[in-house]
Amino acid sequence: MVSKSAVSSEFPALEQALKQFFGYDQFRHYQRPAIEALLQQRDTLVVMPTGGGKSLCYQLPALLKLGVTVVVSPLIALMQDQVETLQDNGIAATFLNSSLSLNEVRSREAALLAGETKLVYVAPERLFGGNFLPLLRQAEQRHGIAAFAIDEAHCVSEWGHDFRPEYRQLGFLRQQFAQVPLMALTATATDRVRRDIMEQLQLREPEVFVASFNRPNLFYDVRPKQRQPYSQLLAQVKQLDGSGIIYCLSRRRVDEVAFRLQQDGIPALPYHAGLSDEERRTHQTRFIRDDVRVMVATVAFGMGIDKPDVRFVIHYDLSRSLESYYQESGRAGRDGEAAVCSLYLGYGDIATVDYLIGQKPDPQEQRIARQQLRQMLDYAESPVCRRRVQLSYFGEWDAPENCQACDNCLNPPPMEEWTVEAQKFLSCIARCEQHSGGRNFGMTHIIDVLRGSTKQQIKKWRHDQISTHGIGKDRSVEDWRALGRSLLHQRLVAESDDGYGVLMLTPSSWQVLKGQLPVKVAVPKAQNKGGDRQAADTSQTLSPQAEQLLTQLRQLRKQLADRQAVPPYVVFPESSLRQMAQARPQTLDAFAQISGVGRQKLSQYGQTFTDVIRGFCEVNGLDSQPLPVSSSGGDTLGPPPVTDTHLTTLRYYQKGMTPAEIAADRGLRLSTVTDHLARLLENGHPINLDALVAPERQGAIRAAIATVGTTASLREIRQQLGESYDYNEIRLVRSAVARSSS
Ligand code: ADP
Ligand code: ZN
Repeated sequence: MVSKSAVSSEFPALEQALKQFFGYDQFRHYQRPAIEALLQQRDTLVVMPTGGGKSLCYQLPALLKLGVTVVVSPLIALMQDQVETLQDNGIAATFLNSSLSLNEVRSREAALLAGETKLVYVAPERLFGGNFLPLLRQAEQRHGIAAFAIDEAHCVSEWGHDFRPEYRQLGFLRQQFAQVPLMALTATATDRVRRDIMEQLQLREPEVFVASFNRPNLFYDVRPKQRQPYSQLLAQVKQLDGSGIIYCLSRRRVDEVAFRLQQDGIPALPYHAGLSDEERRTHQTRFIRDDVRVMVATVAFGMGIDKPDVRFVIHYDLSRSLESYYQESGRAGRDGEAAVCSLYLGYGDIATVDYLIGQKPDPQEQRIARQQLRQMLDYAESPVCRRRVQLSYFGEWDAPENCQACDNCLNPPPMEEWTVEAQKFLSCIARCEQHSGGRNFGMTHIIDVLRGSTKQQIKKWRHDQISTHGIGKDRSVEDWRALGRSLLHQRLVAESDDGYGVLMLTPSSWQVLKGQLPVKVAVPKAQNKGGDRQAADTSQTLSPQAEQLLTQLRQLRKQLADRQAVPPYVVFPESSLRQMAQARPQTLDAFAQISGVGRQKLSQYGQTFTDVIRGFCEVNGLDSQPLPVSSSGGDTLGPPPVTDTHLTTLRYYQKGMTPAEIAADRGLRLSTVTDHLARLLENGHPINLDALVAPERQGAIRAAIATVGTTASLREIRQQLGESYDYNEIRLVRSAVARSSS
């Protein structure tokens, strides 16, 4: 938690500038310190997840500093988008890229030289090609260059997911413009890529800001694909509101799903590399402008678009890796409002992906891809918090145990001992093999035998005559599949890697069969329809009247946007509309209080919007409402609440037990118990810190926190302190600091 006092510093007017230019009341985590660093001419690296608010970190300084800020951005569509949004806030921004006519380029360059431009977006190839560098030199002499901002900075790294050789030349900027500070920005989660960025761009003693990768507004769930997955998908899309992306693995599937959705009355368009450039561009624009609700796409779609109000991302097929999944699903909810990320897990798809991996020529590549697939499945099949699995993959170990916003946390699957079932399953594999001259069979076949099927295929192999035929009638196909998956996942059975996925026993299978190894599985949930409803509950629910007004405001926004040929969110983000719908501001003064309403927006749209709101109030006999508590970011919310498990730990603690004793007694990890105690501390429960962390160590930890800032991660604090400090004590002291400064 950033408290106001902890961040007040030599730039007290920053909040004012934020409201004036962008209409926001508060900075998000890391924005202020990153902005301050840039204002102090420091090189900086800003690592924030998608939607974290990176752009503001260079846009606000650009408005406060003399000279032009040069933004290097790899994607034309993205540039255009950002520039439109800025211009709509009355900010002198422009871009230069290959989509412009020569005349247009000339006039923009002239404006740049005349000092009329505050922000100029360029593609890296333009930076080094033609006359741009000499132009910059002139601009530097006349009005100065405020900063270079390198967006999507991971493109310099071959280890990233989007390497672009042109980015390699950017280190040159550091040498050529020694006086100009450089800010690199990325959403990449891995350490390796971050190091690459600092090296390749030759950053000078950079200040590094790494925000948490947690995206609290996203609801995650995983849905086992049912026999009719399309119907399952359609039902979900019908339940959801707003725009969404549906990712599929193949072009064929994209076309098919888009077509079927259209037939079923859902405005949807396909997007994949098989379409012409023109088609892709049109489809993308129609999606961004809310002319169609759903984009069905291969993963090629999304890199280039910045639509902040995507309300759901459904992976109809698996992702290649957990990192890809995180980035792709992360395209939902960039505006901070609630959004849903669903992954459909089809057993057949795993075999398909695996088969495709098997086609790769390089065995090393295959190995990496298999490992990534396995991690993806670990995620999909895990009975623990989805967020925790993702964050721990990125090295954030201190995520809470229960996030309250994923399927597993809202509806924890109980673990059950299924040793007998596992024995039946494995012995069925053994019997089929013996009975067919050493031949192995896939999961569907094994389950058919267990359930006593008399299908042609079973008769053909005479598997209706073996002893395991029909011994599993008491369980459903889904149950057996879940068990089979879990056995694979726990490596208690192996699967051939030829794309057929036949099952084979391993030495550990025999341990299970001999009764030496118990088997536990997360009991499959009955298909719960509750997921979406629960997800919706995590956002603020509006009264029916507010919903009604919101609909009108959305229509107005769409009209205004179409008139200017910009996407609706350029006019106002969703969060602003929601606030208007709740507060019903009827005067310009009241309207100016809405988050997202800056000076320019007020004069441009204030009248039109308040007219509509007044009309609505008159018709319905309503008044204005006081503004709801700020909904921006979540930074201003208190600490996460304590739950039963924390209180249980508190009871143990009050009996005088040490954290280690509590952990042992409750069968929890020490880090978990520490987490509980820290949470209790943050919430003001009587935990005596001095008894847990020696005062002199506390002193050192407090000093480190003061140096790296209260928003720093545990890892950063520990880097400051050195190896002799452990995360548990740092976690506790950080909570005490947070408590005292809130
Ligand atoms: P990123 O580039 O990190 O993915 P953006 O810069 O596009 O994220 O910001 C995401 C959204 O958050 C945008 O709609 C932006 O206007 C909004 N935003 C940024 N900073 C703030 C803030 N301090 N308060 C409220 N909204 C903000
Ligand atoms: Zn969770």
